[in-house]
Amino acid sequence: MMQTAYIGLGSNLGDRLARLRQAVAGLHRIAAFVRCSPVYEGSAHTLASNDMSPDFLNAVVEIRTDQSGMDLLEACQNIEREGARCRRVPYAPRTIDLDILTFGGVTCSTDQLILPHPRLQERRFVLQPWFDLAPEAYIPSPVDATVSAALADCRDKADLVRTPWLLMMKENEISV
Ligand code: AMP
Repeated sequence: MMQTAYIGLGSNLGDRLARLRQAVAGLHRIAAFVRCSPVYEGSAHTLASNDMSPDFLNAVVEIRTDQSGMDLLEACQNIEREGARCRRVPYAPRTIDLDILTFGGVTCSTDQLILPHPRLQERRFVLQPWFDLAPEAYIPSPVDATVSAALADCRDKADLVRTPWLLMMKENEISV
């Protein structure tokens, strides 16, 4: 069955924009339809306040796919591997990170996959680009709100800058 999924992308290492574009190209291989949010730049969420992690680029991508949630997770992890992501340290700089934010109306909590993504409500760098792309998209329980309402409730004070960079250069991309 065709599902609409939203995927959060983040990169703060190397050629960050190239890594995001590479991830979008990877999603094109498995999805019938791909639409991208604007790209935002913001400082890294880190464990220590004196941590000097490079700034992140973040975006959200909408796809239509007939894959299962687990197949999509595997595809996302393959794309991360292609981007040579380093998995060793939590919150460490990463070449490319893909999180499945929602997968249709599916809710699940297994060792490998939690839907909707458990931390999306706390992350302005997720909700802001997602709002630009699909403000009325519904986030299932326990969030149980539209993206627009979740952003209005978000207490994350992160400073985000909307960049002029495009991920696909196609007509189905929101540009500034
Ligand atoms: P992270 O290091 O934050 O990218 O987390 C990666 C781990 O989170 C992987 O082991 C995934 O199996 C797991 N995971 C659980 N739910 C999700 C989700 N909705 N999207 C992506 N990874 C997930």
